[in-house]
Amino acid sequence: MRKRIIAGNWKMYKTAEEAQSFAKEVVGKITASDKVEAIICSPALYLTNLIELTKGSPVKISAQTMHFEKEGAFTGEISPAMLASVGVEHVVLGHSERREYYNETDESVNQKVHAAFDFNITPIVCVGESLEERESGTTVAKVAEQVKVAFKGIDNEKAAKAVIAYEPIWAIGTGKTATAEDANEVCGEIRATVETLYGKEVAEAVRIQYGGSVKPDNIKELLSMEHIDGALVGGASLEAESFVKLIEAGANA
Ligand code: PGA
Repeated sequence: MRKRIIAGNWKMYKTAEEAQSFAKEVVGKITASDKVEAIICSPALYLTNLIELTKGSPVKISAQTMHFEKEGAFTGEISPAMLASVGVEHVVLGHSERREYYNETDESVNQKVHAAFDFNITPIVCVGESLEERESGTTVAKVAEQVKVAFKGIDNEKAAKAVIAYEPIWAIGTGKTATAEDANEVCGEIRATVETLYGKEVAEAVRIQYGGSVKPDNIKELLSMEHIDGALVGGASLEAESFVKLIEAGANA
């Protein structure tokens, strides 16, 4: 049985004070569960502080992106070595907003997946199709290709530990959620792609999240699906109360 993984992606929201009060509130409300992992994907600036505030609690703090080099002359960037040095254990890679606005490509995502594993950081690899691709019937081909390139050169042991987030671009921040059946179908195709690359054991181990307008009132149905092992949540993760409900749904679904 795969342990569910529910991550709140704050994107570029919250002041330091807001981030701290959120962390303090959720730490008091989220209890450890062997069914769900609770993760906050924080702006880099607050990672250290939030790791401190959530120490000893079931809540883990993830980065939203990183560079693939260990160090170097890359002004403004943050390296996997830096993240590992402050205790970060997860990083979101290839989010569609990074792909759209910051030139992230399948190839750079692949470099970052390697770099994350080199520093014992679990990558949450985002894939997903545009509305145009969905309408032209190329969704499965698109996400399969994204997965294949992202995992190039990654061995079985590492691949089994990775998390893949299926996020249809047209469902992000739009209020349009893929139906649970549609989301499950694509997540199943992603698992089949992993099986082609690594075999059944890895495909059964890898966790696949759905993301795109997930909220407390639709998460239960999504999590009831065979291939959906969690959620990557933007808007509905910004309020502590809503985040706690999402995690509770993961523990009870
Ligand atoms: P949303 O964002 O939940 O606001 O649609 C999801 C994401 O971008 O990870």
